[in-house]
Amino acid sequence: MSEQEELLADLLAHGRFLESLSSVGVPRPAAAPAHPGAPRAEDPAAALAAVRETLGDCHRCKLWSGRRTIVFGQGDPQAELMFVGEAPGADEDEQGLAFVGRAGQLLTDIIEKGLKMKRSQVWIGNILKCRPPQNRNPEPDEVLSCQPFLERQIDAIRPRVIVGLGKFGGQWLLKTAEPISRIRGRVGEYRGVKVVPTWHPAYLLRNPAAKKDVWEDMKTVLRLLGRPVPGARD
Ligand code: SF4
Repeated sequence: MSEQEELLADLLAHGRFLESLSSVGVPRPAAAPAHPGAPRAEDPAAALAAVRETLGDCHRCKLWSGRRTIVFGQGDPQAELMFVGEAPGADEDEQGLAFVGRAGQLLTDIIEKGLKMKRSQVWIGNILKCRPPQNRNPEPDEVLSCQPFLERQIDAIRPRVIVGLGKFGGQWLLKTAEPISRIRGRVGEYRGVKVVPTWHPAYLLRNPAAKKDVWEDMKTVLRLLGRPVPGARD
């Protein structure tokens, strides 16, 4: 499939996603309310623990029946930088941790070799906390059921920058149906927090040539964080 055909397929798929929201009586996603400069929770770790407690042994959507573990996300509750992906895969479901499979190893390389940060310094999570069967795409009712928990996680941590990983991570944060191939390379905002959409590490495993795009995006992240950018002139 050519790149143009892929873009068209992407647009059509997202048109269907938005139509399906309407058809089940759910309003189409609107732009997130501005939330500029909201302070992070006084005690982000306690705020995150409260979110986890509220989540409980969640049965709010149909994914509960096929999961082994709820993958809440992990990292530094006071992180300046968050990564948001789509949903746990098989390894994550088994270990109860986000991004621990092959794609997770690549994400670790992006953080440690690219950004020169420790994985433990950032927060890593997903829109859905339970694995969809056969790693299929999230369905609208699942996103609607689970997203309040990610919203509360972001409010607890209040990072300076969020990286949206792949189509679902980027689109959810920016409240857009534009394909990831169009939104990556631009800086957006989610409730006053800068958002950098980029390719999902799983995509990079299949398309290593796209790593150069991710490196450009990570340089943008470093600039937004006020950290040194390798190769940049002062
Ligand atoms: S995906 Fe989210 S809403 Fe659905 S059962 Fe899991 S934790 Fe609950």
